[in-house]
Amino acid sequence: MPNLDKTHDPTLKCWVESANEPDCDFSIQNLPFGIYRHNNVGMQVGVAIGNSILDVDGAIEAEVLKVPDEVSTDFCLGSLNEIMEHEPSVRRTIRLAISELLREGNADLRDNTDLRKSLIIPIGQVEMELPAWIGDYTDFYASIYHATNVGKMFRPDNPLLPNYKNLPVGYHGRAGSIVVSGTSIVRPNGQTKADDADLPSFGPCRLLDYELEMGFFIGCGNAQGKRITMSEARDHIFGMCILNDWSARDIQKWEYQPLGPFNAKNFATSISPWIVTLDALEPFRVEQLQRGDDDPKLLEYITPTENMGYDIIVEVHISSKQMRDASTEPMRISKGNFTDMYWSIAQMLVHHTSTGCNMNPGDLLASGTISGTAEDSRGCLLERTWRGQNPISLPDGTERKFLQDGDEVIIKAFCEREGAARIGFGECRGIIEPAN
Ligand code: CA
Repeated sequence: MPNLDKTHDPTLKCWVESANEPDCDFSIQNLPFGIYRHNNVGMQVGVAIGNSILDVDGAIEAEVLKVPDEVSTDFCLGSLNEIMEHEPSVRRTIRLAISELLREGNADLRDNTDLRKSLIIPIGQVEMELPAWIGDYTDFYASIYHATNVGKMFRPDNPLLPNYKNLPVGYHGRAGSIVVSGTSIVRPNGQTKADDADLPSFGPCRLLDYELEMGFFIGCGNAQGKRITMSEARDHIFGMCILNDWSARDIQKWEYQPLGPFNAKNFATSISPWIVTLDALEPFRVEQLQRGDDDPKLLEYITPTENMGYDIIVEVHISSKQMRDASTEPMRISKGNFTDMYWSIAQMLVHHTSTGCNMNPGDLLASGTISGTAEDSRGCLLERTWRGQNPISLPDGTERKFLQDGDEVIIKAFCEREGAARIGFGECRGIIEPAN
């Protein structure tokens, strides 16, 4: 059963009016954390509320926000790593204090006009930064529909490899090339080899793709040599964000055997700036995808002990430069749900640390491409256009098999469920720039 408290009450309203709009991502039940810059001040911790940001450190200094003594100095450090490190009970206390400060009936900040103007900043006036210092990044492959689709293209008779239903497959990604939403992505160069060519060649990637994923940040870590168990996993995860694992399919095809992705993935990964905490997601924690009757029995260390599916709707929108110039709205090209994942975030974390591999606060793990059974729920162009065989028609009259220069990919994610207030992740955007 979800652990709900006063912060999840769907009837709560906020004195920041925009937070009460029915389609608002950053309602008072959400309270996601991010790092921003404003007026050339260094990096600051903020909480998104409606179309604004609460300056958390400023609110603590002004003594309108009371947080436990042990965390009060963690909010002035310009990253979330130190805040992530605390026990879940401390994180929940902080969330409750912020929720109380922003509630409709609380006049402490609401009626202090000068202080309110300095602590509640319109989102449009700030620049968002990466929310944490990311020491390590791992990407999984947890959607069985994605794995089956991609497998089918290369091995029609045997799409899933024998290990797939026994363990969550992943690879170690490149933490240093993770960028925040809005950062342009330069088309990578790379070595590729056409099927009918004798020799490989070097040049700009021709089959550039996005991958629609969710990322999850580690809260308190584990010591090297000490693994995390299934019943502990949720306490070690701070929260989630949207992630786009940009992928160079032609480079990938030539390089991936035998050690998996390398240059096809290492040039850039985009994430949304706001981390929605697992606490905020609690009303949306549901049963995960049922394993098939014929699926192998799971080994004990990775067997679920509680519901760890998350009901998150995910969408990909695309706009070309021509469309933006003509003020045409981006076109939605896919819509899926995170409940379609075969492996849960708990299983991914537990398997990752099962060797004794240590996690640190701020480490980022990602789900792998989120695809469902429907054609329009496929989370990358490779699947969506079936390797380019079924191009997508854009409103500007052009077609897409893969991404072209000037294309912008916009990923959105949000949660809507009977009996709960809507919460959202905002967006993860990136425009493709020409190779150099
Ligand atoms: Ca991926």
